[in-house]
Amino acid sequence: MFEKVHKLFANDLGIDLGTSNTLVQVRGQGIVLSEPSVVAMEASTRRTIAVGQEAKNMLGKTPGEIIAARPMKDGVISDYDTVEKMIKYFIRKVHNKRTLVRPRIVIGIPSGITEVEKRAVREAAEQAGAREVYLVEEALAASLGANLPIHEPAGHMVIDIGGGTSEIAVISLGHMVMSESIRVGGDKFDTAIINYLKRKFALVVGEGTAEEIKIKIGNSFPDRKEKRLKMEVRGRDAATGLPRTIMLDSSEVRKALMQPLNEIIEAMKRVLDKTPPELAADICDRGIVLSGGGALLRNLNRLISKVTNVPCIIAENPLVCVALGTGKFLDNLKYQVAARRFS
Ligand code: ADP
Ligand code: MG
Repeated sequence: MFEKVHKLFANDLGIDLGTSNTLVQVRGQGIVLSEPSVVAMEASTRRTIAVGQEAKNMLGKTPGEIIAARPMKDGVISDYDTVEKMIKYFIRKVHNKRTLVRPRIVIGIPSGITEVEKRAVREAAEQAGAREVYLVEEALAASLGANLPIHEPAGHMVIDIGGGTSEIAVISLGHMVMSESIRVGGDKFDTAIINYLKRKFALVVGEGTAEEIKIKIGNSFPDRKEKRLKMEVRGRDAATGLPRTIMLDSSEVRKALMQPLNEIIEAMKRVLDKTPPELAADICDRGIVLSGGGALLRNLNRLISKVTNVPCIIAENPLVCVALGTGKFLDNLKYQVAARRFS
């Protein structure tokens, strides 16, 4: 009997609506979906052709009639219809219609989005069948997902570096005390690599290649112990238009990434500067926690420790922190009330 009742309610969902990836957690089942936040449409009719991984495979390779878009790309919703389609598609994909109860849904969103955009997200979830919708800032969800004891009266600093935005927040007693959302993240790292290769080597590469370079040999702080990483990079010669291959060294990638990394560090410093002294002292003791895909950039925690003089740690599962955190919101009414206040 108990099991039956449990099953009826077990379909509540936590969604990390990221600028690069959308993750869905089903209560009681863990993370059941992780797919790129991409939608492919027919250009003339705007009919959806594919969503998620299938659509991402079409990015940059689509014939004229098909457009593949990332509707959350810069942390703002440029195209409501597309975001709505995407949210509905993901919810329907994981939501088991046989259960009688419509799900409650917690959605993690970038803190920079406007009231109008929040309403669009909320309505999309409602139309997809949600009974109740709660919106929660990604940085807050990330801190819960990283198992930080944020309900204590002590300051914690979390930096979530996603594809389109970086969310920087100081949290105490379960609430964000100070925060900043900047439109710099993994995508800007990729663009910086593209621009650097063009300038320095007259080599033209696409976004996919730039991301591959970043993940394979990207780094943000020199590491003496580590041998220099190298990678063969194929592109098009800017002058002749012909294919060309170069050997790229990790120190070059570091130079390319300097500017976007500096923007994140400057934003962090601004947040720390505005943080009340007692909370700042807690952060010095407890360290800064990094989450999001950007946290995986080699040695980023070391760079941040160096420039702030505060220890910096990478969350255990940086890519799933926000999704896990939205799940925790569902588990505890106390968090839900907090979520309401932010939505
Ligand atoms: P979002 O929350 O915006 O959807 P994610 O947290 O999923 O973003 O992170 C996606 C970003 O992380 C992408 O820009 C991706 O290139 C980057 N990324 C993923 N793995 C790595 C890695 N090992 N090193 C550096 N960047 C990475
Ligand atoms: Mg994210």
